[in-house]
Amino acid sequence: MQPAPLFPEANQPDPRLVEIDALLEARYGAEVKPREVWDPLTQFIYSILSSRTKTEDSHQVLRDLRARFGTWENLRDAPVAEIEQTIQAATFADVKAPQLKTALQQITARYGSLTLDFLAKYRTDKIRQWLEQFAGVGPKTSAAVVNFSTLRRRALCVDSHHLRVTQRLRLTPRADAAVTEERLMRLVPESWDAERLDHHHSLIKLHGQTYCTFDQPKCAACPLLAVCPTGQRNTAG
Ligand code: SF4
Repeated sequence: MQPAPLFPEANQPDPRLVEIDALLEARYGAEVKPREVWDPLTQFIYSILSSRTKTEDSHQVLRDLRARFGTWENLRDAPVAEIEQTIQAATFADVKAPQLKTALQQITARYGSLTLDFLAKYRTDKIRQWLEQFAGVGPKTSAAVVNFSTLRRRALCVDSHHLRVTQRLRLTPRADAAVTEERLMRLVPESWDAERLDHHHSLIKLHGQTYCTFDQPKCAACPLLAVCPTGQRNTAG
């Protein structure tokens, strides 16, 4: 019998991905916290802030911004130095503060008011294209906005955890986050809606924070060892 191809044909649900999801669900399903679904603008602001920042720190920064400025319009109109001081707990606060202010000013200039609710009437690819025109906004942020917010569209937020884990599992060939998302989206079952894709992402992310960490993957104890070529190589001999 021919062995199953490591990388299946495009646009076919990948049985390995589905099996991995089931193993992760068995290990972490009860730990995935229900998402607090925000409006698209709040998710956009959070996603810019959260890049390379721990989840708990990102949530604290969002709370600090709300406490200090009250409204996102006040945040937009605040001096960059004051924004930077408020988001100190986020990494690269000196870069993110001007990016955030500029993006909020540009949204206001292009739409006429500070909101992203109007995106709901557009196709997902158009929304992502529109969001990615802003400095500091790439596929990871645009995927988070369309998938996690009230827009609730199909997308996979391939953050650093998602990229590392799926590459070690060899679900897709090595590539950047944008290409990896495109390939993974061809492999997930079509029946997985936005919420299900969000849940799958949360499972993968938890795994990347727990076993499949950047510097010390715990392959010998990993619940995915039986289906992971990298783990089998790491534990061989
Ligand atoms: S076996 Fe190792 S490399 Fe593979 S998913 Fe588990 S921790 Fe990551």
